[in-house]
Amino acid sequence: MPSSADPAPQPSAHVAILPSAGMAHVTPFLRFASSLVSFGCRVTLLRPLPIVSSAESLQFSDFLSSHPSVHCLDLHLLPFDPSSANSTDPFCLQLESISRSAPHLLPDLLLPLDPKPSALVTDISLASSVAPVSRARLNLPCFILFISSSSMLSFLARFPNADDIPGSPFVDASMVPPVLRDPNNLFAQQFSANGAALVATDGVLVNTFDALEPRALAALNQGEVLEGLPHVFAIGPLKPLGSKRARAMELEWLDQQPERSVVYVSFGSRTALSEAQIKELARGLERSGFRFMWVVKMKIVDKEDEEGLEGLFRDGFMERVKERGLVVKHWVEQGEILAHRAVAAFMSHSGWNSVTEAAMHGVPMLVWPLGGDQRINAGVVEASGMGRLLKGWEWGCGGEKVVAGEVIEEALREIMEDVSVGAVASCMKDEAVRAVGVGGSSRDRLTGLIEKWSKC
Ligand code: UDP
Ligand code: UDP
Repeated sequence: MPSSADPAPQPSAHVAILPSAGMAHVTPFLRFASSLVSFGCRVTLLRPLPIVSSAESLQFSDFLSSHPSVHCLDLHLLPFDPSSANSTDPFCLQLESISRSAPHLLPDLLLPLDPKPSALVTDISLASSVAPVSRARLNLPCFILFISSSSMLSFLARFPNADDIPGSPFVDASMVPPVLRDPNNLFAQQFSANGAALVATDGVLVNTFDALEPRALAALNQGEVLEGLPHVFAIGPLKPLGSKRARAMELEWLDQQPERSVVYVSFGSRTALSEAQIKELARGLERSGFRFMWVVKMKIVDKEDEEGLEGLFRDGFMERVKERGLVVKHWVEQGEILAHRAVAAFMSHSGWNSVTEAAMHGVPMLVWPLGGDQRINAGVVEASGMGRLLKGWEWGCGGEKVVAGEVIEEALREIMEDVSVGAVASCMKDEAVRAVGVGGSSRDRLTGLIEKWSKC
């Protein structure tokens, strides 16, 4: 029997979580799962198999070994012929495969669970296939964990109309990525169907926080963006999982650099620059004279990225910059890099995880969108004041259109010398810490949801 001094037992919610594919999707889901565990929830994680990239496989296994209470159920994807889909992007094909399989597999996996989950949280890319099954066959409320910005959510809710989006005045038709302009493209079809399914869900959790997107969040919840949209909960920035691996060489290299002196350059987990652009970026970094750490990526899927750096830079670049630059081609712990005192600025494609991680650590951004939601996210960065867009940017920069080293050099100089973006980024860090701390807006929303789920 508990003594009278014991705190009252907390009812604990049981939440089933279904992520989709790609690090940008898996990472926030595992961070979310970790938060739920820290608030005493029981978590059932559905892991789609097989997995596309080595980075994702490793992240799942690291997560499961550091969260032994999480119950993992494997969702063995049904056979799917990719030649029947109009896309060659391995991640997009994987989203399609999960989306087709999930409705058939979820009932057998989730219905026998005891205790029964109180909610199913899934990715936006699975909304149209999972939300109907969740309600009709599983009798479970279905929530979306939206892994991009609130402005992107507003754009999705109103797609294909991209102008005059309430709360996101900077968004316009020029920000629509080329892939969404082709209605026959698989991604465009998924995007449209999933946007339409938003109204059939029970709530949307977004990895953002009030101070980063105040107007977009207000407009979403005041019904200005789309009538019938369920409540939108800003619950971010989701806390990184932390690594138990040995301290990496790039962190030791940063230890040797002066405070706030290094530009960190990385374009995320799945975006490769063209070889010509990589060479111009090298020229820009060299000409700028700044210290830098650059993560080079040449293939979409990490397992295929085998060419060494020596083959890439045959003109002596690595030798010339060795005193002040570190170039790597492996997976780095980005969170730890951004947290390092030596990092002064982040040149990024503005993938939303990268934006929230920069905000969390108060690092100003030079943003260079390369696809998908990145131009809209770059608009959020600019509107917040914590970063700048690469001057002269247009779709195709970094791919078929090569940005000259001189342009990159000038942009680096501007971001490194701009005191005002640094000040805003530093305030953003304080706000991010406040949002997820005790009594913070994001934390209170998440604990409120957990309390609601625990009563289901
Ligand atoms: N997205 C969406 N509906 C979908 C698939 C994606 O709204 O059906 C959004 C989501 O916000 C994501 C963005 O589009 O952040 C780009 O998706 P993708 O998976 O191509 O890119 P990634 O985020 O992996 O770079
Ligand atoms: N990331 C990392 N190390 C790398 C490359 C990427 O830790 O070498 C992480 C990064 O911190 C972020 C995620 O991978 O959490 C990338 O997500 P983002 O939304 O920024 O972009 P995407 O990869 O979808 O383009």
